[in-house]
Amino acid sequence: MLEQVAEKIASFLKAKEVVVFTGAGMSTASGLPDFRGKDGLWKDRDPALLASIGAFENNYQEFCEFYRWRIKALLEARPNEGHFSLAEWEKKGYLKGIITQNVDGFHQEAGSKNVWELHGTLRKVRCAKCRKRYESSLFLERADCPECGGKLRPDVVLFGESLPNLALEKAEELSLSCGCFFVLGSSLRVSPANWFPSLAKRNGARLYIINNEPTPLDGLADGVKREDILRELEAIGSFL
Ligand code: ZN
Repeated sequence: MLEQVAEKIASFLKAKEVVVFTGAGMSTASGLPDFRGKDGLWKDRDPALLASIGAFENNYQEFCEFYRWRIKALLEARPNEGHFSLAEWEKKGYLKGIITQNVDGFHQEAGSKNVWELHGTLRKVRCAKCRKRYESSLFLERADCPECGGKLRPDVVLFGESLPNLALEKAEELSLSCGCFFVLGSSLRVSPANWFPSLAKRNGARLYIINNEPTPLDGLADGVKREDILRELEAIGSFL
């Protein structure tokens, strides 16, 4: 069964028909805790309250502490074998692109180019006043903009904010252009990100989901695996 799904995905890769959609499971394989999961909680606080526009406006000190903790963890982690495999497949022309819910920038660090980040990036911070962007390491030292003194914030989409239009448009374009939509490590519970797999499927693409727990779209998929992501990618690679 593992081989069967892997072999099918490999044949779609060779046909240059694949779009990959990644979520938190892709990064936990790099040792980065899922801040929404029970192992990744900060001081047992509800992340939806800390990673929110409300916290940025009304509870800035704790907002900063929370994000400094996440940026530090990010700067210590590295892309994993899975990120490198996807980058290599793109280089070979096998992959049309990556849509990701992750904000860690690991796909790009591993060498992927056509990556669309639905929830922004934790690699940069920006000034809420003049909008200038900086490396996120600056945020570990100061919370005010060196240019204008405005409040700095991570360049991510906070709870209560809308998703970036360009990434949404590109994700839609990719979803409608592929023959195979391949979900890796996402529980597909966050809207509107989970809209893309169904869009691709309705447009005639095959849908494969590799995740360690059930997703609401499993019933729609042509193949579902609870397999470890890195093992599955390795299995696909053995057919290329
Ligand atoms: Zn500024």
